[in-house]
Parts: sequence; structure tokens; C-alpha cells
Amino acid sequence: ATQSISAGPTGRVVVVTGAARGIGRAIAERFVADGDRVATIYRGGDLPKGVEAYVADVTDSTAVDAAFAAIEKDMGPVEVLVANAGVTKDQLLMRMSDEEFESVVDVNLTGTFRCVRRASKGMIRARKGRIVLLGSIVGLSGGPGQVNYSSSKAALVGMVRSITRELGTRGITANVVAPGYVETDMTAALSDDVRSHYLKTIPAGRFATPDEIAAVVSFVASDAAGYVTGAVIPVDGGLGMG
Ligand code: NAD
Repeated sequence: ATQSISAGPTGRVVVVTGAARGIGRAIAERFVADGDRVATIYRGGDLPKGVEAYVADVTDSTAVDAAFAAIEKDMGPVEVLVANAGVTKDQLLMRMSDEEFESVVDVNLTGTFRCVRRASKGMIRARKGRIVLLGSIVGLSGGPGQVNYSSSKAALVGMVRSITRELGTRGITANVVAPGYVETDMTAALSDDVRSHYLKTIPAGRFATPDEIAAVVSFVASDAAGYVTGAVIPVDGGLGMG
């Protein structure tokens, strides 16, 4: 049998959080195109064709657990989790409130933890699983006005490394895919000045498309990537080099 590097085996149950727009949407579309069965845990809105909707906020543990239980009942054991839901709330350090810090951590870090904790149950039972977390190059390099966001994304590195140490012998991998700047609603808010400043610092000379992030997530989630674990994989046009 031949094994494709880009496409996973077909028919797996894949959960992508926050698949209504941006990177999550592109990831969900990619798994659907590869023949997987895709569910999203999300806050509502229009979804790509073929994606099953389960409404929950990742800040709500009970709702997250209920969504996973419903997915398992309707679709079967979850083999791939892509924790994509994330937010920014930029503010200068000295002005940042507890609420601005904690609300970003609650979605990006604790929200990811809630999904990983629940998804790993079935993966441990099946002795098989792929956990892919959306980090950010900002989690490695930092960003002005982003103490909350960069802290939340940096912590995901420790998370995948702990998961790898705990579950590495059970056929489960856990990795961070760390995009640089991507053309989505999250970056559409940047001023022209800031955008042109970033463009000068990116060796590729442009932002990524969401599809370029989805392609790497697809590989990390594939059977072919069974020995890639505890890794941080930048997809950043060279932004984070050196
Ligand atoms: P986006 O704002 O377009 O989409 C984020 C998605 O997360 C939305 O669908 C939103 O509804 C969902 N979400 C937010 N809070 C949620 C919650 N509490 N519960 C459930 N869903 C929630 O952002 P994006 O640019 O597509 O970013 C996706 C991921 O990639 C995020 O984790 C982000 O931090 C990361 N990322 C983005 C960039 C970029 O340049 N756009 C760069 C690096 C990393």
C-alpha cells in the first residue's frame, strides 16, 4: 500500500475548534477534502460544507465535555483534535487589566486544555490519536502589546511536551503548529502602518494564506507523522529565524 504524505487516511473523526472562519475554517475544509469526518466545537455561524456543528464555548468545561460526548455518540471515537479557537486582546503591559490577561488565557490556554483533556480519554482507550494545537510565532518571539496572547501561546509548548511525555507510548502525538502572520479577521484589524512594518520583517514578503497553515496541520495529523511529537513547527515565512 502507498502512503500519501499530505493526506491522512480517510474516514477518521476529526474535531476542529472554531471552524466558522479563518484558519480553523481552512483546516476543516482540508480534512473534509481529505475524506475525514469533521466536527467543529464552535460558538455558531456559517460552516464549510460537510462540517458537523456542535455549539460550545471553550471557556465552559461542562459544555466542552458535553460537545465531545455528543460527537462520540453521533460520529464515533475522536482520532484527531485540532485546538484552533483563539483570541487576541492587545494592550500595553502597564495598562493591561486582570480581565484582559485572564480572558485571553481562558480561551487560548485553558480552553485548549479543556479540549485536550476530554479528547485524550478516547485516544488513550484507542491507543491512537493526533493532538494539534494552534500556537503562534508570537508565543516564541513575543509581541508588543501582547503579554497576554504571547504567554497563552508559549504555554502550549509546555503542554504538548508534557502530553508527549505522558502519552507518547500510547500511539498519541501532540504538537504545536506556530503560524506567523496569516490573512484572517485577526490580522485584518492591523493598521496599514503596522502591516507594512511586518511585511518588511517577513522574509517571504507576505502574510500566509489560511490554506498554507491547514496543509501543515494536515501533515502533522497524518499517519505519516507518527514520529513527530512534542514539536513546535513554525509556518511563518521565515519570520522567526535566528
Ligand atoms: P479568527 O479570529 O478568524 O478565528 C478564531 C476562531 O476561534 C473563531 O471562529 C472564533 O469564533 C473562535 N473562538 C474564539 N473564542 C472562542 C471560544 N471561547 N469558544 C469557541 N470558539 C472560540 O482567528 P484566526 O486568525 O483564524 O486564528 C485561529 C488560530 O490561529 C488562533 O488560535 C490564533 O491565535 C492562531 N494564530 C493566528 C494567526 C494570524 O495571523 N491570524 C497567527 C498565529 C496564530
